Formats: sequence, C-alpha cells, structure tokens
Amino acid sequence: MEILSNRILNMAESETLAMTAKAGELKAQGIDVISLSIGEPDFNTPDTVKEAAKKAIDDNFTHYPPVPGYVDLKKAICEKFKRDNGLEFTPDQIVVSTGAKQSIYQLCQVLLNPGDEVIIPTPFWVSYKEFVRLAGATPVFVKTKIENDFKVTPQQIEEAITPKTKLIMFSSPSNPTGMLYTKEELRGIADVLAKHENIFVMADEIYEHINFVGKHESIGQFSDIKDRVITINGVAKGFAMTGWRIGILAASKVVADGCKKLQGQVTSGTCSIAQKATVRAMQMDPATSEDIINMRNIFLKRRDLVYKGLCEIPGLKVRMPQGAFYFFPDVSAYYGKSFNGKKMENSTDIAFYLLNEAHVATVMGSAFGDDDCIRLSYATSEDLLIEALRRMKEAFAKLA
Ligand code: GLU
Repeated sequence: MEILSNRILNMAESETLAMTAKAGELKAQGIDVISLSIGEPDFNTPDTVKEAAKKAIDDNFTHYPPVPGYVDLKKAICEKFKRDNGLEFTPDQIVVSTGAKQSIYQLCQVLLNPGDEVIIPTPFWVSYKEFVRLAGATPVFVKTKIENDFKVTPQQIEEAITPKTKLIMFSSPSNPTGMLYTKEELRGIADVLAKHENIFVMADEIYEHINFVGKHESIGQFSDIKDRVITINGVAKGFAMTGWRIGILAASKVVADGCKKLQGQVTSGTCSIAQKATVRAMQMDPATSEDIINMRNIFLKRRDLVYKGLCEIPGLKVRMPQGAFYFFPDVSAYYGKSFNGKKMENSTDIAFYLLNEAHVATVMGSAFGDDDCIRLSYATSEDLLIEALRRMKEAFAKLA
C-alpha cells in the first residue's frame, strides 16, 4: 500500500520552486549559477512598510488576528481597489490569506466540485492546474499563440465552454509571458461571460504595479459580470514583500464567506505583523509612490536590456513583455540539435542544458503549459542579467 495519498502522488511539484532549489544545490557546491528561475523582486521592502511592522510588534499585535484579516487592513484594501482599479468592495468581501497562492487554492476548493471544468488559457501560472485537480475538477487548456502575444480570444473561450464549465482563470499582467489585456480585450471576454451566468472568472492581478504601458485594467470593472469576478492580489511582487506572505481575495460575499470558512479550518488569520505592514503598503498610491515607481523603472530598464540580449540569440522567438518581470521566448528552433551527444527534445532539456552548461537557471515552458518556450525572470541586477545573456548565447551557439 502506498504511503502517500493518490492526491499527492498525482500532483506535480511546483517547477518554479524546484528549478530554484536545483540552482541552490549547484550554488552550494560552489558553482556560480545565475538564477533567472524564481519570480522574486531583488529589492528590499520599502522602509515605511518595515516601520509599520516594527510598530505592530511594539504595539503587541502578536495575538491571533481575525480569520479574514484585521478590519483596518480590509478597509485599506477596499480603498486601494477603489483608488487604483475603480472596484467597489465592502470589507466583508475581502479575505486576506498567506499569499495569493493560498487565496487561489482556497477559491478552487470553495467553488469547484468533481466533474466541473475550468478553462485555463495556456501559458498559465504553474499552480493553477494543480489547484483545479486538487479540487477534483478538470482543467481545460486553451492554447494561445505567441503571434497574439499569448492572449486568449473571446471566440476561443466561447468554443471551450461546455455545460460543465464553472470557472476561467488567468493572470494579467501575465506570469509567465508578461503580457497584459487591454480594457477592450477584457470587455470581449466579459461579453462571453455575460451570456453564461453560471461561470465565474478568477483574475490574478498580483503583477498589477509592474506595468510598462499604462493603467492596469481589471475585468471586475464591468458591472454586468462583476458579481462573478474573483480578484486576486497581494504585496509580494509590487512591494517586494515575497517573504511577508500576504494574499488578497476580493469577491461576492458568498464566495468570500466560503473562503473564510475554509481558511478558518486550515490556517486561521495570516501573520498579524505582516497584516499591519500591508495596511501601509495599501496606502501607497502607485501614481505617486516613489518606491513603486522606482522599482517599475528599474524593471523597465532591465526588460529592454534582456529583450535586446535575447533578440541577439539566433533562432529564439521573443515578444516584448508589457508587464511583470518575465520573458517567455520560444526556443523550439533548437529542438533536434545536440551537445556532447545529448539531443534537445523539449523545454525541459533546454532548461537543464542551460543550467548545467551555462549555469543559468530558467524554468521549462512545459510547467506553464507551453513546451516550446522557457521562462526567464529578470528580477535580478543588470550585471547578472548581462552575464546570464552572454552565457546563454554561448550555450545556444554550441548546439548543433
Ligand atoms: N510566483 C512566483 C513564480 O512564478 C513565485 C514562485 C511560486 O510561488 O511558484 O516564480
């Protein structure tokens, strides 16, 4: 008899974390690996946020917080949604968790029954499909094209809908492609959903503040479908607060109550000190906050640098990302080529070849549902990016 449950045996490991751990193992052996694998800003958390956390400790916010979050935090989140996104929520529609990841996991547990179908445009963030499967539901992948900036069309969604469809999940700005949906494109998706009143949509907006082309647009802004939109956000990416573990879910009260009920059984309220720090982060207006603007400008400079470097590698198909801090180049021109007798057959082979030969850690595109590509995170210094690109160019040139 197996020790582990079928649920765990059948679940894929998080490849973003696995590749980062592999890079860490090589580093521990003294190998100079440049990690472009994990999506983690290399900045420090803004001082004003750190001060709020220190004050929370001094003020003895060290007891169990309410399961869905402190009231002042939920109010600050509602104000943020109104200020930045034009979304109206009341505090009882907000559930604060231990990371956007937990928020999305809980949502799947709360909304999905075995047999339900969930439309996930590919490429998608690695954990979506596992959350759907853990709820006993079925992911239905809809393949997007690099020529369309990896964006799903309303027609593709319409064609994927069946009587079993319960949910659609996507991120914008996108992890892993860095693309974002315009207001018109979101309206097109909303038009499809307006015709199917039992289908919900999960909009993962964790990369909202890393947007190089203008105003962030939320699908929750459309009043005809807003009650069926679940908006996910957090502080990890936009405020360089990955370690604080704060996720935000905003939804109709019935969905929020379901998430609160589940969270009450599994983790209770998330860290009291991190919550108080997040109040300060929510008060930072992205239109004027120097911390947010500086980080975005640095990411923009790095994006342009990486774009140039990737375009200099023959055979790669590269799109210019508009947000987040990822590139998702198509490397399939190298499939069939070899180095030292090892033939490249897929994105896993390429990712391991780059790790072992160039000492550059990336993530295989197959983890995101697109085996033609690899993902690179440019949330690291310019010097390291320049060196990583040099090594990658050299490694790709050795494949024949
Ligand atoms: N979301 C980040 C990434 O895609 C962090 C890693 C993770 O949580 O999987 O790299």
